[in-house]
Amino acid sequence: MSHTFQAICVSKPEGGDQTVQFVSLCDDDLMDGDVTVAVEHSTVNYKDGLAVSGASPILRRFPMIPGIDFAGRVIRSDDQRFSPGDRVVLNGFGVGEVHFGGFAQRARVKGDWLLRLPDGVTTAQAMGIGTAGYTAALCVMALERGGIVPDHGDVLVTGAAGGVGSVAIALLDKLGYRVIAASRRAAEEESYLRMLGAADIIDTRDLAVSGRPLMKERWAAAVDSVGSWTLANVVAGTRYGGVVAACGLAQGADLPLTVMPFILRGVTLAGVDSVMAPRQRREEAWARLARDLDLTRLDRMTSHIGLDDVPRIAAEILAGKVRGRVVVDL
Ligand code: NDP
Repeated sequence: MSHTFQAICVSKPEGGDQTVQFVSLCDDDLMDGDVTVAVEHSTVNYKDGLAVSGASPILRRFPMIPGIDFAGRVIRSDDQRFSPGDRVVLNGFGVGEVHFGGFAQRARVKGDWLLRLPDGVTTAQAMGIGTAGYTAALCVMALERGGIVPDHGDVLVTGAAGGVGSVAIALLDKLGYRVIAASRRAAEEESYLRMLGAADIIDTRDLAVSGRPLMKERWAAAVDSVGSWTLANVVAGTRYGGVVAACGLAQGADLPLTVMPFILRGVTLAGVDSVMAPRQRREEAWARLARDLDLTRLDRMTSHIGLDDVPRIAAEILAGKVRGRVVVDL
């Protein structure tokens, strides 16, 4: 008999607005894939906020179960790499966009999209990290590939109280970097940002406005999840030979830069994508998270909700009101 489970389903009639429903589905309703997973936790990332609210056309097929990431246990596998009981994590690959995603108690996906969870990280902690935290690790790895080491000087993290920002601060601090956190909530979230490891806190609103092509050299490197004028000013304030990892667009997708920081200071702008990142880089990012992320700090940046709360949190994350990471317990 086919197992029945709960899910969020987004539908969109031809020419109409999308609607969100809570539905009961059975295994036969799942899409094709070679591994079936009992999803234990998912999470609300910024992209999930866009998808569930319909603010951006993230969902490219309807009806769709959103949720770009999940962690759980394998129930059935036709992929030799996975067996029932294995603890797995999934980030991206169009899951929750074109393939049924993590806001459901069951998922069926390609084995190629799954990673085995590192020992010592629970499925709940894996989603405390989530796609935002895994992307933060990819950003840190991009800085390292650019030759950045703690001796070079301060590292700036924008969107500091958000998901990518919170995990980036905790990782960088543990690795010995002196971290400057840039937040629009600099005053209200000061104790939170210092708990994560921020040595200095600045107000992102000072960076988010039109600036000069080159500014005083203030940081050796940066992790930016904000884009637009914030990223332009971050690059313009980066020291000679520095690296900026760019992964997000919370302020906007535009980038009003000049070439000056590149041709006069040799600054590198490193793009970071989590969705189609190759397996080897994903495995390295998750191994680094298991090793370099302080799990006590992770627990303190994580809150838990049920499936019913996802639409509310989806709206809040787009309004920049969510702090840290939000795990969906399934
Ligand atoms: P969050 O909402 O948790 O964090 C974003 C943070 O950015 C907010 O908390 C806020 O931080 C800041 N922010 C929000 N709006 C603005 C604004 N208008 N101007 C300046 N700062 C703003 O989202 P996530 O951490 O999940 O994602 C962050 C970004 O990274 C998103 O754009 C997302 O799409 C992108 N992303 C990209 C990935 C990739 O593969 N490239 C993967 C994962 C995420 P504060 O209040 O501290 O200022």
